[in-house]
Amino acid sequence: MLDTTEETLDPEDWPKFRLQGHRMLDDMFDYIENLRERPVWQPIPDEVREVFRTPLPTESGDLASAHATFMQDVLPYAIGNAHPGFMGWVHGGGTAVGMLAEMLAAGLNANLGGREQIPVEVERQLVGWVRELFCFPQTASGLFVTGTSMANLISVLVARTAVMGRVVREAGLSPERHLVGYTSVSAHISMAQAMDMAGIGTQALRKIPLNAQFQMDTAELERAIKVDKLAGLTPFLIAATAGTVDVGAIDPLPAIADIAKQEGLWFHVDGACGALGMLAADIAPLLQGIERADSIAFDFHKWGQVPYDAGFVLVRDGELHHNTFASPAAYLQRETRGMAAGSPWPCDYGPDLSRGFRALKTWFTLQVFGAEKLGRIISNTCALARYLRQRIDEEPMLELLAPVALNIVCFRYRSSDSVNADIVVALQESGIAAPSSTRINGQLAIRAAIVNHRTQACDIDALITATLAIGADIERNKGQSK
Ligand SMILES: *Cc1c(COP(=O)(O)O)cnc(C)c1O
Repeated sequence: MLDTTEETLDPEDWPKFRLQGHRMLDDMFDYIENLRERPVWQPIPDEVREVFRTPLPTESGDLASAHATFMQDVLPYAIGNAHPGFMGWVHGGGTAVGMLAEMLAAGLNANLGGREQIPVEVERQLVGWVRELFCFPQTASGLFVTGTSMANLISVLVARTAVMGRVVREAGLSPERHLVGYTSVSAHISMAQAMDMAGIGTQALRKIPLNAQFQMDTAELERAIKVDKLAGLTPFLIAATAGTVDVGAIDPLPAIADIAKQEGLWFHVDGACGALGMLAADIAPLLQGIERADSIAFDFHKWGQVPYDAGFVLVRDGELHHNTFASPAAYLQRETRGMAAGSPWPCDYGPDLSRGFRALKTWFTLQVFGAEKLGRIISNTCALARYLRQRIDEEPMLELLAPVALNIVCFRYRSSDSVNADIVVALQESGIAAPSSTRINGQLAIRAAIVNHRTQACDIDALITATLAIGADIERNKGQSK
């Protein structure tokens, strides 16, 4: 006899569940609507950490109480990147529209690995829009991934296929051909990690010095390629950055594109934050040359304001991209009709088979806000960065440490590194404004990356006021303790 409990995980009492669901939705609307009233971030009390150190629950719990725990112990202790005062690292702010789209995607629970379904068509439409944005040909391919780290890895693997041929997938790298790639000293660490994971090794990634504008020095690049060629190595890739993580510099893309063409190298652009500047009328001209890239990696979850995660890789030669990842397997057999139709599938363009519906929140973001408005938001973050630079110039106790190319401002309080490090931590703990820190020419810098669409001039003012007050306070206490 068949012995099942007829048990499912669907709600037993839908009306009650519906009420609870509406309450959860309203709580998140309240959170987003009233973000400004909260601290950007706050230190985590020990007792809150303890809440998440209990054993595996065996008995059924209750949705309302899980939600209460979320409201009390999770939501107040997030990193705060949704908050207008958040300026740390390079984090996007997300939107209420993106949140709703995520809910729809989760409800549908689509698996975007492939097959005959409209969710895949939605992703294909995004690929088309991205091609259009970067003036890439119809034959270019694109794929949603977790983030630019993964997009950089995929790009390096496609570039590896370009130089070694498809045979590299079976035979591996050849000991006779030492591949070398080039990037600048301020490239993101994920470029080196990509070389590592691709089996080429981080030592094979040459770190080209910067010019005075913190961009890759192209004379040094040409020299390094020449030296490597003379040594019998095989240069294969140049990875430029559009919007460096330190200062927001854009490498000289047209000159790098020329060098790549002349030397027959793959031209990759890490445009994690900067590439979407193509949406902004005043930023797009700064990105000139990006349309000549062989591959571009970027994040919709940074300047695009799409909720995490929504990285993207665009490859000019779609066939080469396909040949780098597509693998035959009987259970992945393609058909011309039925549910197994619709080849090629997204899983043919990257390492993931099961994939979430990242395209939907991105589609909603573009449908609801439109490219122009998103572009204005991007322009606005750069205008705020220029405003911050001006405020720094006006304050005798503050000093700018790097040119402001886009939306990132590096500065310091005129004091020691340790005082500046203390200021950054005190700012974060104050909950008023949350910059991060980096090192510029050996000096510790307070770094404000303005990515969030909610940030306004008053947040910049609050950062300046708090920095000056905390700096003076630390100096005063130092004087007293002497
Ligand atoms: C953020 C960033 C990355 C990493 O992107 P993830 O989405 O975090 O994987 C890579 N490069 C640059 C320049 C970045 O700003």
